[in-house]
Amino acid sequence: MVTIEEALRIVEDQSISLKSETKPLEESLGYALATNTVSPFDVPEFDNSAMDGYALCGLYQEYKLVGEVAAGDSKEILMKDGEAVRVFTGAKVPQNTTAVMMQEKTTVKASTLFLDEMPKTEQNIRKKGGQLKEGQEVFTEGHILNPPSLALMGSLGLSQLNVFSKPRVNIITTGNELVKPGKSKTEGQIYESNSYAISGALQQFGFEHHQKTQILDDFEATKAGIKTALGSCDVLIISGGISVGDYDFVKQSLEENGVNELFYKVFQKPGKPLYFGRKENQFVFALPGNPASSLTCFYVYVLPLLQKLSGYGRTGLPTYQFPIKHPYENRFGRPSFLKAAVFDGKAQILDGQGSSMIQSMAKGNALAFVDENEKLAEGDLIRCKLIS
Ligand code: AMP
Ligand code: MG
Repeated sequence: MVTIEEALRIVEDQSISLKSETKPLEESLGYALATNTVSPFDVPEFDNSAMDGYALCGLYQEYKLVGEVAAGDSKEILMKDGEAVRVFTGAKVPQNTTAVMMQEKTTVKASTLFLDEMPKTEQNIRKKGGQLKEGQEVFTEGHILNPPSLALMGSLGLSQLNVFSKPRVNIITTGNELVKPGKSKTEGQIYESNSYAISGALQQFGFEHHQKTQILDDFEATKAGIKTALGSCDVLIISGGISVGDYDFVKQSLEENGVNELFYKVFQKPGKPLYFGRKENQFVFALPGNPASSLTCFYVYVLPLLQKLSGYGRTGLPTYQFPIKHPYENRFGRPSFLKAAVFDGKAQILDGQGSSMIQSMAKGNALAFVDENEKLAEGDLIRCKLIS
């Protein structure tokens, strides 16, 4: 048995080799950059107007209007002192522009422009290179491409990005009692639900599964199922069959398939019988079958590994601290991840903390963490990971 910190350290410390690929900009969301990016030119590339208004030459309250430049125009007007040019947001301003005055603060009579107030030097001019200089570092390797990153890469004219490949994931669910939703079941059977949580959580974080297999609690079938799944993935996620019951064949089947155990059992609630193993460059997580346990273990342990294998510069869900709405004492005798709801900056621990209880997790949006025997008074800070 390892502690949560030890388990996370083992996941984080795995040595891996990353693969990279070229992706079109529009398909790069959620990928990490495989190379450093420098700006190929100044951004913006030319002085331009931040407003619809007037480019002014000199600082006066009255100007002679001599022309117009719209966004996208390349024309170059040379103003004389005391002259102004009509400009629009994003338009290249004449070279000798002293300031731009927004149109709301102006009046035009015939071809004379009157300002309501005195302009200030460089006011409303977006300067060439004001955001980035040519050759300046934009992103370093491992930067995770979020929507504004895509906009920035696009604004640099880059349509193909060199990114780290994402791991291929296979899912196995185990259990004689499991029936696929939509099918009829008999007394004693239940509907299989963990694979939907796992594939949903994969999707939530930009991953997808390649194959999903359901196997019975039978040693030979488990061995064969694992062998097949390992044939086409970088990460295998197994649900159930990893406890100490007579029908739990996963651990032994992994050994028989040449998977080496990195840890088995974590001192935590839920998810104590969590297994992590490795076979060369393939990784296996065997998650406890109880629905809340398996999903909790996914968020806490599987996600950081997937992100690490994707070349992410930072991995795992960040932990935030929120004041708790009510007193809470951890009586589970183990460090615990609690189903919680965070709203209006406050955390509430939900009813229904059992490992099999998924309803509270579904209605909440966070996993709160309390140490073994931790006791909190109302308003004390509690550590939370936001899961939705
Ligand atoms: P196990 O870890 O296989 O001993 O399963 C623990 C509990 O989780 C049992 O009540 C199982 O019926 C339940 N369980 C296991 N796998 C699933 C699954 N894929 N979907 C829903 N419940 C499951
Ligand atoms: Mg089982």
